[in-house]
Amino acid sequence: MKNTNAKNLPRLNGNLEPQILKEAIKQFKTPLFVYDLDRITKRYNELKEAFGGRKNLICYALKANSNLNILKHLHSLESGADCVSLGEIKRALKAGIPSYKIIYSGVGKQDLEIQEAINLGILFINVESFEELLRIELIAKQLNKTARISIRVNPNIDPQTHPYISTGLQENKFGVSIEDAKAMYIHSKNSQSLEPIGIHFHIGSQLTKLQPIEESARKIASLTHSLIALKIDIKFFDIGGGLGITYNDEETINPYDYAQAILDSIRGLDVTIICEPGRYIVGNSGVFLTQVLYEKNNSNKRFTIVDGAMNDLIRPSLYNAYHKVVALKDLEETSATDVVGPVCESGDYLAKNVLLPKLEHGDILAILSAGAYGFSMSSNYNTRGRCAEIAVKNGEIKLIRKRENFEDLIRLEEI
Ligand SMILES: *Cc1c(COP(=O)(O)O)cnc(C)c1O
Repeated sequence: MKNTNAKNLPRLNGNLEPQILKEAIKQFKTPLFVYDLDRITKRYNELKEAFGGRKNLICYALKANSNLNILKHLHSLESGADCVSLGEIKRALKAGIPSYKIIYSGVGKQDLEIQEAINLGILFINVESFEELLRIELIAKQLNKTARISIRVNPNIDPQTHPYISTGLQENKFGVSIEDAKAMYIHSKNSQSLEPIGIHFHIGSQLTKLQPIEESARKIASLTHSLIALKIDIKFFDIGGGLGITYNDEETINPYDYAQAILDSIRGLDVTIICEPGRYIVGNSGVFLTQVLYEKNNSNKRFTIVDGAMNDLIRPSLYNAYHKVVALKDLEETSATDVVGPVCESGDYLAKNVLLPKLEHGDILAILSAGAYGFSMSSNYNTRGRCAEIAVKNGEIKLIRKRENFEDLIRLEEI
């Protein structure tokens, strides 16, 4: 069988050419995350332009990749931030993103986090339950402030994605029903300490079908009309994130069609659109680089053991997610192999049954589309230091996070 992977090499396009990747490894070893900042710019601008005709704010979802250098880069493009913890809010501020472009989402906000979010004067808090609303009201009252809020409404629509990353169905823990949302808005309107200014939905991640988003937007827009009739002044229409990307051969949603569908749904509403993309901005802009340690065969099954593992990139183990694997090697005969890491779990793999040439100690594999939910989901399992991260801009390589060493790992422990 001929190697089809070599054909994929150009798909590392932009700045992430094999030559650059090899240079990055020479300087910083493996495993390693490398991000293409110019590609991040391109993705951001595509989306920005798609919504161009309308008041809009892109709030990049930090959880996809929260490296400060990436955030600073997105801030230079005028991005806002969608945060899901006080830690992420602080990261956004540290990177220079102003508080009026920061929104705060999540089902389980702690008192201290709510307090800080109000004190910092962020744009609004996305509220996910009636109890949380009362909690925010109480805290704002104690602070003698008004909390700007938006309510996450669950449109109960199947996003047609992986169940682990689906969030917009009644059976998910996220958001509130349309009926509950109405009651919450009325409560907020009558409160001295709450100012309802937005409405929010987010139905899932890695969405590749437009129709569920369109349907959700229509439902939420219709609710918005009825809230405005109740004199509740909704200024922000927050459509969440979730735009899918191509990992393998998925057809994805065109940003123009996406924007058009949203614009159609909010016809007649004077609102600013907020969009919270994470994966779409950074996913295809990053690669994970790992080096081969050994190859082995167990009863005729081939394994390629590499120095990267599930603690570095957990998506394959967690979601059975597919990432393309490219050997930075000349075209050769290939055969099927499982690419596995050194972690003591059978679930520790980066790819299953992929075609790769015969590999030797030190050969490099690039795991593509690893810019989102890669490093940000990594851990120290098996006392493995987290990877270094590199940014490439205009062909220049820059270290944006050092590799963790043993001292870093034990710093907070006491004997
Ligand atoms: C995770 C999340 C996002 C970003 O999701 P992507 O699939 O990375 O675009 C946006 N908004 C909310 C509320 C989220 O939970």
